Amino acid sequence: MEIEYGDITSDEAVGFCLPDPTKAREDTLSLLQAMIRNRCENFGDGLCKESRSIKVLQDYLEAHGLQTERHAKPERPERHNILSSIGSGSPRVMLGPAHVDVVPVTPDDASQVPPVYSGWDEDPWSGTVTDGEVFGRGAVDMLNTVAAMAVAFVSIKESGVALNGTLLFCAVSDEEAGGEDGAKFILSDPGLKHLFNADYCVTELGGASIPDFRLRPTLSFFQSTAEKGTTKVEVKLRGRPGHGSVPRAADNALVRAAEVVMRVHAYSAPTVITPEWKGFVKALQLPGPIEWLLTFPPLLPLVLMVLLKIGSPIAPVGHALTRLTMSPNALVGAVKDNVVPGVCTVAVDCRTLPGQSEEYVLDHVRKALGSDIASDVDHCSIGAQSHIPASRSEPDTPLWKAMEKAASAVIKGASLVPVMLPGGTDCRYYRGIGGAVAYGANLLEPSMTFGDLTKRFHGENERIGLRSLWTSVQFYSLMVKNLMVAE
Ligand SMILES: [Zn+2]
Repeated sequence: MEIEYGDITSDEAVGFCLPDPTKAREDTLSLLQAMIRNRCENFGDGLCKESRSIKVLQDYLEAHGLQTERHAKPERPERHNILSSIGSGSPRVMLGPAHVDVVPVTPDDASQVPPVYSGWDEDPWSGTVTDGEVFGRGAVDMLNTVAAMAVAFVSIKESGVALNGTLLFCAVSDEEAGGEDGAKFILSDPGLKHLFNADYCVTELGGASIPDFRLRPTLSFFQSTAEKGTTKVEVKLRGRPGHGSVPRAADNALVRAAEVVMRVHAYSAPTVITPEWKGFVKALQLPGPIEWLLTFPPLLPLVLMVLLKIGSPIAPVGHALTRLTMSPNALVGAVKDNVVPGVCTVAVDCRTLPGQSEEYVLDHVRKALGSDIASDVDHCSIGAQSHIPASRSEPDTPLWKAMEKAASAVIKGASLVPVMLPGGTDCRYYRGIGGAVAYGANLLEPSMTFGDLTKRFHGENERIGLRSLWTSVQFYSLMVKNLMVAE
């Protein structure tokens, strides 16, 4: 496939978006490397020290004459969130919330010094550039995006152009553990919400090429406009404890739990074809009959089963994006090898589509268990521990149009496809609490396919091409221009 990159620094946009392209490229790389080296590993224990990378961004912004403010919960003084703005009034357009924490990397042997990471070609905390790619934890999730957004923001400031509205840059802590100290905090705190809210925002997880059915890259790029919700369900099984030497004198709750695990795993909730799934399938450029099969609810489960058997990467994604999924992921209660457990709890991770309520989830958990288990109130109880609904921003907005125009200027012929994510990002807080139009959006070089991106997310050899860093900076800069500067 011929790829023609537009050169937005030498056409009509010169002097506006990126007044100093060489410096912009250098800054993006050095910000990314500094944040990788800061190693803000989020173990979910509240102890991650993201303020180190927030300080890197603060120094960069302030060195370019921008004012910043940082906020953290008083009990979390090393977990800051930072905000800077250009212009005033509405609309409020945010580059971010962009998280600076990363998921941990597990060494081969935790006791070994220095640690060995045999799945990596380069040290995951080095930011080494090899063959045009930057290696390190966070290189695609999402320090690349944080760096590109910061540089686009500074470039727009340096251009001196007048913006219609307020452009914000916001970087946050704690996305990888749910955002309690990050996006959720800044949008829930009454003293901060008015500072950090936005009408439009753009954050992580978008911009990779959707491959065709032969897995070749195309010029269709996914952007996430929706994400599934999460309901944590606990199924508690009760029996009667006893000594492991006389098992028939007891009533083993673990055996009941095992049956629950098997039934939940085997259950398939009803198929729902969303507009996002239809659009995604269309972008795969499949032969007509296969496209039809993948969007026909009665046959889809069977089609997905066949695709799973032949190892097609569409199958697991298709399964997740066309129904409520339920995954039994943790079991608590059985702790001693000579004690028959009297109580066991199975934690079921349920992921909902837009419109599926907590009651819908509980109803399907009961169906999965069957009436013999679910109705046996002496031995089984089912309850939801938390419910975060699915969220969606429609793609019919001025921001989407600005993104489309920017993408096709950076890569000739690029088109954007709205996609739903099976997992969650900080978008859910901005769509939910903030009421914003929020997309996970970016533009990467087409050789980085959807499959490559998902493999690198939280995976080994996480890395990003220098070319992709540059397409991101251009994309965000032009997107702001298209949205906030009168023609
Ligand atoms: Zn992320």
